[in-house]
Amino acid sequence: MEESTSARGACLCGEVCFEVTLPVSICVHCHCTMCQRGIGAGFVTWFAVPNERLSFVSGKQNLVRYTSSDHGTRSFCGTCGSSMFCESKLHPDEVDIVLANMTDPIGADPQLHIYFDDRAEWIDVRDGLPRLGGETGVEPLDQSPSTDTPSPPAPSAPSAPDA
Ligand SMILES: [Zn+2]
Ligand SMILES: [Zn+2]
Repeated sequence: MEESTSARGACLCGEVCFEVTLPVSICVHCHCTMCQRGIGAGFVTWFAVPNERLSFVSGKQNLVRYTSSDHGTRSFCGTCGSSMFCESKLHPDEVDIVLANMTDPIGADPQLHIYFDDRAEWIDVRDGLPRLGGETGVEPLDQSPSTDTPSPPAPSAPSAPDA
């Protein structure tokens, strides 16, 4: 995959089409409740690139932006509803992109679970990837990656867009 220097993605209806220049900065599974509800899935796999590495082939004007927190903005296709991007004032130089919308490989595999304490109880994670959680969603957790301890999610954990 290393010969590819760019990768394209699109929403469900195809109106919003974009391209990212590789390599990506990071790729993570986010289990926060905002991702669960915003995307309608048990968890969401995101990757990040510097803003200047994202360009639109078509349909940028079709994106609808939703301010999901005091620092986060999520955007989705106004026609088909595909969730596509998340921007955060906490890391303004990077944009988060939903991996599932990619039509080309990005040359990177998911590296971490974040907001793991907030995960849906019906999600059974059995991979060996590191799990981060706690108050910030990105603190290392004590539990062994090889056992999925069914501990209840922390009710007071803040819901924030993924890092
Ligand atoms: Zn669409
Ligand atoms: Zn999230």
